[in-house]
Amino acid sequence: MNELYADIIVDISVQALDRPFSYHIPDVLRDSVGVGSLVTIPFGPRMVRGYVIRLKDSCDYDPDKIKDIAAVLTDEETVEARLIALAGWMCRTYGGVMAQSLRTVLPLGKKVNPLTIRRATITDRNMAIYYKGRLGKRQQGRARVIDSLLEHDDRLVADLMKEQNVSIEIIRGLEKDGIICVMTQENYRKVIEEAEALPPDVLTGEQSMAVRKIRTEWSTKNRPVLLKGITGSGKTLVYMELIADTLAEGKQVIMLIPEIALTRQTVTRFVKRFGEKVSFLHSRLSEGERYDQMKAAKRGDVSIMVGPRSALFTPFTKLGLIIIDEEHEETYRSEMTPRYHARETAEKRAEIEGAHLLLGSATPSITSAYRVWEGRYAGESLTQRYGSAMLPKTLIVDMREEAAKGNRSMFSEELSGRLRACLDRGEQAMLFLNRRGYAGFVTCRSCGFVAKCPHCDVSLTRHANGKLICHYCGYEIPEYMECPECKSRHIGGISVGTQQVEEALRKEFAGIRTLRMDFDSTRGKEGHGRILREFGRGDADVLVGTQMIVKGHDFPNVTLVGVLMADLSLNESDYRSQERTYQLITQAVGRAGRGTKPGTAVIQTYQPENSTLRYAAAQSYGPFYREEIAYRKIMRYPPVGGLLAILGSAASEELLTVGMGYIRKYIDIIDKRGALAAIGPAPQTVGKIRDRFRQVIYLRHKEIENLIRARHMIEEYIRINSGFEEIRIEFDINV
Ligand code: ADP
Ligand code: ZN
Ligand code: ZN
Repeated sequence: MNELYADIIVDISVQALDRPFSYHIPDVLRDSVGVGSLVTIPFGPRMVRGYVIRLKDSCDYDPDKIKDIAAVLTDEETVEARLIALAGWMCRTYGGVMAQSLRTVLPLGKKVNPLTIRRATITDRNMAIYYKGRLGKRQQGRARVIDSLLEHDDRLVADLMKEQNVSIEIIRGLEKDGIICVMTQENYRKVIEEAEALPPDVLTGEQSMAVRKIRTEWSTKNRPVLLKGITGSGKTLVYMELIADTLAEGKQVIMLIPEIALTRQTVTRFVKRFGEKVSFLHSRLSEGERYDQMKAAKRGDVSIMVGPRSALFTPFTKLGLIIIDEEHEETYRSEMTPRYHARETAEKRAEIEGAHLLLGSATPSITSAYRVWEGRYAGESLTQRYGSAMLPKTLIVDMREEAAKGNRSMFSEELSGRLRACLDRGEQAMLFLNRRGYAGFVTCRSCGFVAKCPHCDVSLTRHANGKLICHYCGYEIPEYMECPECKSRHIGGISVGTQQVEEALRKEFAGIRTLRMDFDSTRGKEGHGRILREFGRGDADVLVGTQMIVKGHDFPNVTLVGVLMADLSLNESDYRSQERTYQLITQAVGRAGRGTKPGTAVIQTYQPENSTLRYAAAQSYGPFYREEIAYRKIMRYPPVGGLLAILGSAASEELLTVGMGYIRKYIDIIDKRGALAAIGPAPQTVGKIRDRFRQVIYLRHKEIENLIRARHMIEEYIRINSGFEEIRIEFDINV
């Protein structure tokens, strides 16, 4: 190590990150100072403690004036030190500057407004409605608050005030009149606990077997474990057993779940089992409230933190277990620099903390399955649904035949017939419109032909200028006037939205009651929760939605699931399109027959011969994995090799093209033999967002380390050379 200087922060706050102090590392300490080290330094007249956040070999400071680090407090390792070390790893792996990584991992302080941790609910709905009817013209603020609470069940007081534009006096007034009830988060949890008492669960034979095997694994090796369990097999119960083990050892647990799965159902299950020890994070929390929870975790007031991606950085001092549920979900990938993946980062944090890592999914990511194959993870599985629930019967319908039969409806005869029968029985259905890849691939409606890039084996995307373009390599061809396979003129893009599906339903099924869930209908803060509650209550016969509806909701009365345009996501211009389709279809199918009644799933497609669809319909993960990994090997796509995306964006297309061209030339210089297999620059999947043009260059290599090294060189190149001021360059590894 030849770094001579260290950047040190003396307290942990946003400001401290922006103004670290430089110190010299004396020779005797050179081996013991690293990123994350807790050190003592002379600070003004005193000696204080600080954390090393960066090492560097030069310093702008006058070398005579710079002070020495006094000591390294190695035996006093703190959770902050470990988190800073984690940030160091993230910065190195995912790029960006250290301050960005630190901001991601450290619970940075801000003052807390007590209102942000209070929730308001209606005390009595009928009384509230009556009260509202008698309010005068000048009391519309009160009326708005009541409306909002009638719709949402409960809200954070701070949110209510902001959204309804009312003062605290109005809230207090309503509280005094007994119309609403305001309580802290803790009380709120107690309410849930009392409201829905559940009998304790006894593990099934298969479940306890899985628990035993995981315990055995961890008593010897501490490898991460991938638990593959079909939907409804009781993965959550297995998690809870292992959480209980960890608590019994006096250690703490982080459990990541996709935000959308943080339903009242989930909260109740955890509070029932672990009471006050469990806490929940979600994106609706204010910054102060979040900080409060992080502090509580550090003090040891809670021992289990359940939340989305960012909960991974909860500063537990004795972390024993990290669980990632639905580990294949894309929400675990950050879209902001550092573009980290929670799974890899959790692996690193578990390593630093000596904690266990458990990944769970019904449809594991190809990457995790590959890690099991490599022996880096251990694999465990649950193959049976709990109780009498059975996997639904699955039918694949060829939509080309429907067209040939003259059926112009969105619904095949099979699906319409089954939907009618389902409604007659008073049961419910979900229609899932696969909207992934909707961004303009081109297909023939007569034979199913799809336009693909001959070099990258991904679908070409139709652009506004009429050209079909490959987003990996930039290959382009003019738009087809007729199908090159069957000469049909029915070739082009497809565009259907959930709204059209809802309209078609109402037209074809008189009196049908529908609910729709997509990004538009859920825009309000608790929009999707409300829609799901209404559907759960039986307020509608059919729930129509995009991929949002397939995730982890249990509706015992749903016996029919229809998947419309199952092939759309197969044609997404991305090497993971088959994997995503497999996951989406499996999960959609898994929504039917969760209760005691048997379920059916109907999958409509123009490519019934597609093997991914067939495997998903049959829930044959093994054969699907083998086929997919063979493709990844041939193409050298992750997880077999590493893929680095260099993402450029700029307001001027010309500047961007020139800049990305320079980067490409530089890559060719540092990589004369073409080992990095550079492709591009090409437009990104979405070529322009908010008037900024976007391009991408891909590098591929067997060894991630080589890609990281190349990224460092490119970062340096951009820093040193002029001409990149107007271009934003970001890096994404294993996108
Ligand atoms: P997964 O997470 O694998 O989809 P869950 O843990 O959510 O499965 O279990 C599905 C349903 O079955 C839940 O309603 C759960 O309460 C129930 N269940 C699973 N195992 C048991 C058990 N051993 N005893 C009682 N109920 C169980
Ligand atoms: Zn054709
Ligand atoms: Zn291509």
